[in-house]
Amino acid sequence: MPDDARDHAETLDELGRALRDFVEAEGALTRAQQVRKRAAAQVIDRVTQLREEVSAPHAPELIGVLRHIYWQQSGISSRALASAAGLHVNEMLRAIGPCPSGILCTACQEDIPRTSRSWTPPGRYGAPLCTSCEKVEQGLASRKWCVAQLRANLIGSTPVPATARDWYAAAVHGSSSSWFTGEQLLKLVREELPQPVEPA
Ligand SMILES: [Zn+2]
Repeated sequence: MPDDARDHAETLDELGRALRDFVEAEGALTRAQQVRKRAAAQVIDRVTQLREEVSAPHAPELIGVLRHIYWQQSGISSRALASAAGLHVNEMLRAIGPCPSGILCTACQEDIPRTSRSWTPPGRYGAPLCTSCEKVEQGLASRKWCVAQLRANLIGSTPVPATARDWYAAAVHGSSSSWFTGEQLLKLVREELPQPVEPA
């Protein structure tokens, strides 16, 4: 037999053994998946039973169980879990509450909680911030924008040089701005600038 023909025979033998191993592993995987599916169904059945035994869907024992399973066993369907407890998924999420993500807010250093399994960390386009710090940041940004607009409008419609008093007067007596009502302008001016002293 030529050398390369003998090499092929050995390779084909090894290939046959490797293929047999693969088929066996596929079989084991299928069996394991069936076992896993049955075990998950058992968990859901027991949750249903617990729901029937407790007084209400918000009973602490039931919520504790839901919280543990939802956050620790992501292979158990959240829809099936909520339904076993007689809740919609969003009701269940409200009842069990968030869990720590280990990601800290760059502003207040508090943990930014995960609110659901599909939660993705904030801050893809910048530093991660918690909800309340993000609100503050957004508020500051929109306030800066408003004040910049206000200044532009008032300076455009008041005699130069504009003093704080002139700005105040322009706000009180109305500006032609289409963005702000007189009341809103007044509020912004009062918050942003020192109050003029009323003549005695
Ligand atoms: Zn924060």
